[in-house]
Amino acid sequence: MKACVLDTPCPVEQRPLQLTDVAIPSPADDELLVRVSACGVCRTDLHVVEGELPIRRSPVIPGHQVVGTVAARGQAVNEFQLGQRVGIAWLHHTDGSCRYCLGQRENLCEQAEFTGWTVNGGYAEYALAAAAFVYPIPDGFRDAQAAPLLCAGIIGYRSLRLTGLGESFGGWGGARLGIYGFGAAGHVVIQLARARGADVYVCTRDVDRHQTLAAELGAAWVGDASEPPPVKLDASIIFAPAGELVPAALGHLDKGGVLVLGGIHMSSIPSFDYSLIYGERVVRSVANNTRLDGREFLAEAARIPVRTQVQEFSLADANEALLALKHDAIRGAAVLALLC
Ligand SMILES: [Zn+2]
Ligand SMILES: [Zn+2]
Repeated sequence: MKACVLDTPCPVEQRPLQLTDVAIPSPADDELLVRVSACGVCRTDLHVVEGELPIRRSPVIPGHQVVGTVAARGQAVNEFQLGQRVGIAWLHHTDGSCRYCLGQRENLCEQAEFTGWTVNGGYAEYALAAAAFVYPIPDGFRDAQAAPLLCAGIIGYRSLRLTGLGESFGGWGGARLGIYGFGAAGHVVIQLARARGADVYVCTRDVDRHQTLAAELGAAWVGDASEPPPVKLDASIIFAPAGELVPAALGHLDKGGVLVLGGIHMSSIPSFDYSLIYGERVVRSVANNTRLDGREFLAEAARIPVRTQVQEFSLADANEALLALKHDAIRGAAVLALLC
C-alpha cells in the first residue's frame, strides 16, 4: 500500500513525510483493517511531524481522523460488517484497568495508545484500529466531510462540554462563548454552540479565510485577538497553540468564566497578574477524549446537522496540506482524500 511515512521529525517546510510503498498490515484478533477513503489533517499531526510531541514510534504513519470501510476483521471481532463505513480517531486503545479507565476517565489512561503517534495512522491506503475504539459513521456526511469530525469535532465537543456552559450559566440561550483560533475544531464548535442557543465571539488572526468563515457561520462578533470582544464572555476555548493568548483570553472573560485550552501542545504561557484569574475564573486543558464523547458528538453532529467545510489534498500532497495548515491557509479542515 501507499503510505506517508515520517522517519525523522523536522520542520514541515523540509517535507518530512515520504510517500512510500509498505506492506498492508494484518489485524490482530481484536482489530479491524480499514481501507482508508479520507483522513483529516490535524494540528496534532503537525506537532508529531515537526517534533513538538516526543517520538513514540519511529518510523510512523501519522493521521488520526480516518474514514474508510472495513476490509478485514480480527478473529475476535463480531460487531462490524465487511464493507461497513467506520471512523478511526485519536484514542487507539486504553488498558481498561487503570484508575482513570475504571473511573470513566479513559482519556487520561496511563497506558493509552494514540493513532498516528504511538501506532500507525491513516495517511495511508489502509490502517489498523482496535475494533472497540472504532465508530460507525452516521449517514449524511461524505467521507471527506466526516473525517474532521473524528478529532476536530470530538475534541471540540469535549472542549465545549468542559466550559460548563449550559449547566452552570443558566442554560445555553444567550450564553457567550469565545473561540480563539478558527480552524477545523472552531468551525465545528461554533455550529454546536449556535445550535444549542449560545452567542459565539471569534478571535482569529487570519482575515481572509478564518474570520470570513466565522462570520458566515453566524458569529456574533469576529475580530483579532488583540481587540477585546464587545462583551465579557462566559467561557472561551483556545484552539490556537499560542500561549500568549491565555492572558489575553482571561482578560476578556467574565467573573466565574472558564477558559478551556483545546490543544495537545501550546507555546509557553506568559506570566500574568493575579487579577486576570481572580473572580473565580478557571483555566483548564483538554486531554484526548473518551469513547462516550465520540459517540455523543457524532449523534449530535448528525442531528443538527454539522456541515464541515473541507479542503481536499491527495495523499501525495500530505506535506503541502500540513504546510497550509501551519500557515492558516485552510478554510475549515484539510483532508487527504484517497477514494472520495
Ligand atoms: Zn487506563
Ligand atoms: Zn487531532
